[in-house]
Amino acid sequence: LFRRPQLHPVQAAVVLATLTVTLLGAVACTAKPAQTAAAPSPSGSIVTEEPTPEPTPTPSLELTPEPTAPPKTTAPPPPPAPVVPVNLPMQTGTGPAGSLRSTGSESVALTFDDGPDPVYTPQMLDLLKAHGVKATFCLIGRLADAYPAIVARIAAEGHTLCNHTWSHSLDLGKQTKEVMLNDLMATSNVIHKAAPGAPIKYFRAPGGYFTTTLVEVATSLGMRSMYWGVDTRDWETSKWGTGQTMVNHIVSVIETKTRRGSIILSHDAHKPDTLAAYKQVLPWLQANVKLIPMPV
Ligand SMILES: [Zn+2]
Repeated sequence: LFRRPQLHPVQAAVVLATLTVTLLGAVACTAKPAQTAAAPSPSGSIVTEEPTPEPTPTPSLELTPEPTAPPKTTAPPPPPAPVVPVNLPMQTGTGPAGSLRSTGSESVALTFDDGPDPVYTPQMLDLLKAHGVKATFCLIGRLADAYPAIVARIAAEGHTLCNHTWSHSLDLGKQTKEVMLNDLMATSNVIHKAAPGAPIKYFRAPGGYFTTTLVEVATSLGMRSMYWGVDTRDWETSKWGTGQTMVNHIVSVIETKTRRGSIILSHDAHKPDTLAAYKQVLPWLQANVKLIPMPV
């Protein structure tokens, strides 16, 4: 009753050819976007969750795509985060271990290290707010854990956050990669806890003692390593004293050393003279340069 329809050999060949063409077309269509995704994009997006260390001796703070990396055809789709921000100007850092020495634009960034300080950081925030200035704060994890409300205020007022290690160990760069990773992660975790959703895109090694490995670890956590171009040395009381002599020194350094693109280093922890100096020098800065928080 139900006879199986027999295909004529010619008909069968046509069907087979059609199927082959269709299948090949499908493969070509799916293969094309995969190839595009594997190719390095001109904007230089870098997936930072790299399980093995980079074989090249260049600093890991590269914004340009790795030219020698072969396209991975079997690699899983890259995770959406964390990635190095791609909206920043192309720049290879000229600071230690490839860290940033300038903002990458004509604008100038004020950076304040070693807080949050329960006394002086709020006063610095008040001063910056009164002048409508946004800055960058390099926070110590231990202190961020102790004063989360100040961290939250820094973020809420539009300043850029920077990881300055858990306890300001000057020789963190000499430790194992695991110790570095744990330190930086613990620091970022308490900052995130205090200011959920606020990005931490910068890392500054205590004393500026960046090493290649430390910069690599920071990069793997989505942070760019930030050195400085102008150092106020506002901690050096043995040389500059305290009170008006220190204030004069800080103001003088800023007014004579600041250039377009400068990153200026000062401290907001236990530094009343720095606060006084900024009260004096902020109008000069605002009249002469564009002040920005480090771009995130
Ligand atoms: Zn410091």
